Amino acid sequence: MIKARVRAENPDANLKSYYETYTSFDWQDVKAEFYHTESGAINIVWDSIDKWANDPTTRDNVALIYEKAGVERAYTFNDLKIKSSKWANLLTKYGFKIGHRVFILLPTSPEIYFAMLACARLGLIYSILYPNLSGEELEWRLRDAEPRGIITDNSLVSKLPKTAAENVKHILLVSGPRPGIFRTETELDVVSEHMPEECETRFVSPETSLYLLYTSGSTGPPKGVVHGHRDMYGIYATAKYVLDLSPSSVLWTDGPPAWVTGAVYGTFGPWLCGAASVIQATAFRPGLWYRTLERHSVTNWYTTPLTIRKLMSADSDLVKQYDLTKLKHIATVGETLTPDSFYWIREHLKRSPHDTWWMTETGMICIANFPSQLVKPGSMGRPVPGVQAAIIDGQSQELSILTFGELALKVGWPAMALGIWKDDKRYAAYFKNGWFMTGDMAIKDEEGYYYHMGRNDDMIKIGTNFVGPYDFEQVLRSHMSVSEAAVIATSIDPGPPTIKAFIKLEEGFSASGELKASLIQYLKNNLHCEATEIEIAFVKDLPRTRSGKMLRRVLRAWELGLPSGDPLNLQD
Ligand code: ATP
Ligand code: MG
Repeated sequence: MIKARVRAENPDANLKSYYETYTSFDWQDVKAEFYHTESGAINIVWDSIDKWANDPTTRDNVALIYEKAGVERAYTFNDLKIKSSKWANLLTKYGFKIGHRVFILLPTSPEIYFAMLACARLGLIYSILYPNLSGEELEWRLRDAEPRGIITDNSLVSKLPKTAAENVKHILLVSGPRPGIFRTETELDVVSEHMPEECETRFVSPETSLYLLYTSGSTGPPKGVVHGHRDMYGIYATAKYVLDLSPSSVLWTDGPPAWVTGAVYGTFGPWLCGAASVIQATAFRPGLWYRTLERHSVTNWYTTPLTIRKLMSADSDLVKQYDLTKLKHIATVGETLTPDSFYWIREHLKRSPHDTWWMTETGMICIANFPSQLVKPGSMGRPVPGVQAAIIDGQSQELSILTFGELALKVGWPAMALGIWKDDKRYAAYFKNGWFMTGDMAIKDEEGYYYHMGRNDDMIKIGTNFVGPYDFEQVLRSHMSVSEAAVIATSIDPGPPTIKAFIKLEEGFSASGELKASLIQYLKNNLHCEATEIEIAFVKDLPRTRSGKMLRRVLRAWELGLPSGDPLNLQD
């Protein structure tokens, strides 16, 4: 744990005093800001799109800026309202009813957003899928969720497994021509053309399912996490206080739309605040990333430590070619934001990145650094207002400060998953004595800042202590030859474990016995724990999930000759 403190960046942010906001916070006050019918029914599309589209002063504000290969398209709140209403009317005509599932299998494109809004309007459950899923992964999801419809395009429809997709009532292609693979193919753009532009939004109880999202699959096969319309309270409060959005903001969430971060904070997060969302559909290139920030006057950027590491590997002077004066706030999620990445961004982009923590199951950011609060590099910050967190031991007892244990959240925040699709047992297993157990290990310091130590499966036991893989990885990454490192324990026998580090070298360095020996020595010299046996393996790449997370479970499985479990959701 590093004790450095970096001064707060913007005292005038939406959340001004953490203490005051946290102690006086009441979810009822947030709920009161939204439209409810007399019976208390809501619809997230109403408050994120229609509210702005129906107001003449905001209807023409830009809601979505989409860019691919340099070509830009912008959609106002009113455009999104009309598009999604037409599609919703067509879905109604085709007999879709509340609770029916709809898969969205599309490349990153504006149609993903029209489709999800159309479904949400009607109380249908949408599920955005990665377009590069394999046939086997698609088949598994089709059998699991049994969608009534799939919204796809003519480049991806041929990927659908024949037998599993044959039962799907409607295969809706966003544009023609129909390849004629399935009986039920329809050209959505052609048939929706004549649909009315107004659609009666279906108001539903807050606990009505909104989306079904398969997790990243870092710890095992992905789970189908179900979220509800009530998530809007939590998404809104965190978009406002953590991402610091207001109607004049332009937010770029650069995660893919099938990852929960893109699915929530690339859409409803900004829209509930009346802000614009930027979508860059071209693959990562350092220059393109800076240019996207500049070209679209991005004010708030929600990215990942992996993206930052990729920028760090490029020429550090590159950023000087771009005008990033509009950029006010940077936040990250997904993995620990290590101090080296934190300071690199500060040095080169002249702003602090703010780490945030959450998971698919929590539906919203739960622990965060705030722009008006001091940042402790290496810490993921403090619980967001309305969320109570703790470090818990095996007996569900709260542990005192600076004690290692499992991060738990008190049940009761509005965006908590409603369930795991068709798996009540797995859902029930998250809860212990009123706590939601995250499966992540952490430590809390005396000022309430949390430090992520690793996932419980990734922890390495040395003597009586558990050490997280980051402790080793961080030291290794600080060596000039190392670009990426992943560390696991390789022995399962009792006694001191052997640590194995998988290392991807920086360009210009090559693997050798000598480099191995010097890395082992470097690690031993810089570790604060007694390291035991250390092995090093040089690899070309490390296994990652599609959302870019390190898959230590796969390394462990390969190393120990165990089945790697289901490799579903592995990156290419
Ligand atoms: P699966 O649940 O299928 O194994 P996953 O947990 O990677 O996959 P997500 O829901 O996308 O799927 O990721 C949530 C997890 O990401 C958290 O449980 C945590 O381990 C990790 N994470 C998220 N934010 C941070 C952060 N700021 N620091 C460290 N880890 C983080
Ligand atoms: Mg998880």
